[in-house]
Amino acid sequence: MLAHKPKNIYESADDALTVRIFDYAEGYRSFINAAKTERECAESIVKLVKLKGFREYVPGEKAEPGDRIYCVNRAKSVMAAVVGSRSLRDGMNIAAAHLDSPRLDLKASPLYESDEIAFLKTHYYGGVKKYQWHAIPLEIRGVIVTRDGSVVKVSIGADSGDPQFVITDLLPHLGQDQAKKPLGDAFPGEGLNVLVGSRPALSDKDEKEKVKLGVLQLLNEKYGTTEEDLLSAELEIVPAFEARDVGLDRSMIGAYGHDDRVCSYAALTAVLDIEGTPERTALAMLVDKEEIGSEGVTGMQSRAFERFVGSLTRSQGVSLDDCLAESFCISADVCNAFDPNFPEVSDKRNNARLNYGVSFMKFTGSRGKSGSNDANAETIATLRRIFAEHGVVWQMGELGRVDLGGGGTVAMYMARRNIETIDAGVPVLSMHAPWEIIAKSDLYMTYKALLAVFAN
Ligand code: MN
Ligand code: MN
Repeated sequence: MLAHKPKNIYESADDALTVRIFDYAEGYRSFINAAKTERECAESIVKLVKLKGFREYVPGEKAEPGDRIYCVNRAKSVMAAVVGSRSLRDGMNIAAAHLDSPRLDLKASPLYESDEIAFLKTHYYGGVKKYQWHAIPLEIRGVIVTRDGSVVKVSIGADSGDPQFVITDLLPHLGQDQAKKPLGDAFPGEGLNVLVGSRPALSDKDEKEKVKLGVLQLLNEKYGTTEEDLLSAELEIVPAFEARDVGLDRSMIGAYGHDDRVCSYAALTAVLDIEGTPERTALAMLVDKEEIGSEGVTGMQSRAFERFVGSLTRSQGVSLDDCLAESFCISADVCNAFDPNFPEVSDKRNNARLNYGVSFMKFTGSRGKSGSNDANAETIATLRRIFAEHGVVWQMGELGRVDLGGGGTVAMYMARRNIETIDAGVPVLSMHAPWEIIAKSDLYMTYKALLAVFAN
């Protein structure tokens, strides 16, 4: 055919494929419902890899072809690999995705009382539109680490009997001045204060801030903690929304944290579903901190990657650099789906669309592809061949119109390691909103694409 005409997956999907698409989405929905922080994701992932017979790998150990191994970096990032039959001198196939999602983190001294109402101060994490976090139900999840090192897990708001939390908004009757302000100014970051109590404690008559005291008493009863313990806590304010089917046709899923747990899940299940021993070692690299630049010991820039992969190459007498030079990486991250409600931000010819399959991004970045990986034509050509052989429906995407905005992923940090890398993932509507939307068919095709790459 002379002209290239991408097609909606459902136009050529038979009943069997449609059933697989919907079945696969069920597993994802329960995964994303249970795990709303990067730590919870890592914990759920460890359970899943253990069920499939993966063993925890300690760098320094030997790994033989066919071995299924995993490594957890500081409870926040997970590497899971199936060792291939060929030497690591021939490189690996890697799928790198991130487990962190935009949210509100509690500040170090979060709890205060103002006019007999108790609040928690937050600092947002990642790119959020602040107005979206007002007047929606919220949960508190995370950990408090006490001075003796014990990790106290906190999760309030998910169980049906739990209380939930909220950041208030102004009533429209008194919002005339607010409505005139630009969105970015109307909702200041220091205004993202979470409502946590209004009942004064009765026990201590001399205390000035009795509502705050009441909250501290409740935290102490439930978790045995004091206010000072909050200094060494990582408590995250996340939306209390459940992951649900969206649309009368149930073709989509609405959930908090699709970016990038949707690609993390696809990468993980692709590694778990590898049958037997692949030729090249397959690695799912599920990391933290992407939303704030992949920094930190648990981010993609951390040498935790070199420690793990370097240990594998050493055990085979191969140099790490030689292995990476022959490796291939899909930076599995979401992209924006074309939104007919906001057509002006996209070049429709080049934007990813819902139900058109896993979306490849040759480049991301902004204003002249700045800060982007910009994959090679040869890489895309190889993928075209692989996907044609494996029946993967895919499309090329672009993060919005030229000169409008842009974004980044972990791709550049993998490319910097001299690994041939390209971005690919699931198109998302309302990306970075408290409730994001994806199409089930695109999720399934992302999984199939990664499975095909691992089989190559
Ligand atoms: Mn992402
Ligand atoms: Mn993101």
